[in-house]
Amino acid sequence: MKEVSIRFLPLTPEQEVLNREMTRRQELRSNYLVPIYFMHTKNVPSAEAQAALAGVTDALLASGQNRKIVNFGSQAFGQGPYLNPEWYVEETLKKQKLQKVAGYGQQLIANNVMQHFYQEPWQKQPHWEVFVLNRDLTAWGRDGLLNYIFGLTNSEFAASIQSITRIMSEIPTEDLRKAMIRRLLRHEVGHMFKLPHSNRPNIEIKLGLHCTNICTMRQGMSITEWAKQTIEEAKRGIHFCEDCQRDLAQERNRFNPLPSQR
Ligand SMILES: [Zn+2]
Ligand SMILES: [Zn+2]
Repeated sequence: MKEVSIRFLPLTPEQEVLNREMTRRQELRSNYLVPIYFMHTKNVPSAEAQAALAGVTDALLASGQNRKIVNFGSQAFGQGPYLNPEWYVEETLKKQKLQKVAGYGQQLIANNVMQHFYQEPWQKQPHWEVFVLNRDLTAWGRDGLLNYIFGLTNSEFAASIQSITRIMSEIPTEDLRKAMIRRLLRHEVGHMFKLPHSNRPNIEIKLGLHCTNICTMRQGMSITEWAKQTIEEAKRGIHFCEDCQRDLAQERNRFNPLPSQR
């Protein structure tokens, strides 16, 4: 038998402290009713920012969970690291070696933006993140960078980064545009609430797990498809279908109230 040697590097006391702190934060984000922080860049017009926020609110109300949404808008607290929404974009672009364009200006690699959320000092008060921007996005897929993405959601952390750029340029009708953006955020925050569950009927795997009913949680692969789905659901007055509402009901009592803050 070949000898295999696995060497563990002992952690320094500082690293141990950091590890413990990161575990504490994740434990709170996963099992407690932490707030949802909402922010957007300055180039997201206010009507579209309102529509996005309405989508987050739709999903929260449907979840029945007692969480706060903290709306930071495009507010800047200063020019340094993590102090304003633009910093998350500029810092990512600065470190992004690959320049990729797919018809809507230089793309931002969403995974790299996500990294800043994992590391930001504001997570000392653990919270979920929703970031809306007006810049075309891409992300790392199995075979390299994808052509483009609407957005990226990590439902474990949980954090979501969404772009309105393609909806803005392809949908001239304001009402439809706002409805589509609202649905986009409703859908992504739906994922943060763990929709849809994998052990129920009427689901499919299409770039992640999605609902196949007439429902916000259907996957839309293009702007045209997204528009069609948005109109269809509006006509029927449906946000989340009955299957998805049942999933949300199962999640509802899973979370603990926040321990009182020191
Ligand atoms: Zn989805
Ligand atoms: Zn559904």
